[in-house]
Amino acid sequence: MRVTAIKKHLTIYSIFGRRKTTINHAFASAISPCDQYSEADVKEAVHALGQDPEADLECVYCGKEAETWDHVFATVENGEFSGAGHRLGNLLPCCKPCNSKKGNRPWSIFMDSLEMSDEERLSRKGTIERYLKRFFRRDSPPSKSEDYLKLLSIRDQVIELLKQGDVIAASIRSKATRSK
Ligand SMILES: [Zn+2]
Repeated sequence: MRVTAIKKHLTIYSIFGRRKTTINHAFASAISPCDQYSEADVKEAVHALGQDPEADLECVYCGKEAETWDHVFATVENGEFSGAGHRLGNLLPCCKPCNSKKGNRPWSIFMDSLEMSDEERLSRKGTIERYLKRFFRRDSPPSKSEDYLKLLSIRDQVIELLKQGDVIAASIRSKATRSK
């Protein structure tokens, strides 16, 4: 760790901060349909990736040991549920570096940035394409129902309350004195 890492601790802490994206994401993600866990289905899916469901899984993008499951297509787009949800067909075993480097980029474009032979890249891409063709189904985006509008209103109130919290916190902070 570098000494300058302390900088982020010596700055005013904001309740709202950059949480707008996090909150939008939580609300959009919460209306995503999800598959029930089924051991048989997961094993079948892992087989389809050419991997052994009884062994440690490997990252479908780079081949290193998988540590997480990547949502191949982003669940949230422009603050709304995209139709690509928490479903087996949208989840692939992935290492943490690939998961964070991929971000919201399309998986195929992300893979072009990885260092590997063209042969390996083509083979890995083919496996993922076949998997998605077989298992991935997009759900419909939310209809603008009364309930949905109510949910968006709750989300906006949460954001508004956090902002109000920051104003009060700033006032308390400005009056704070060190005790002896
Ligand atoms: Zn990886």
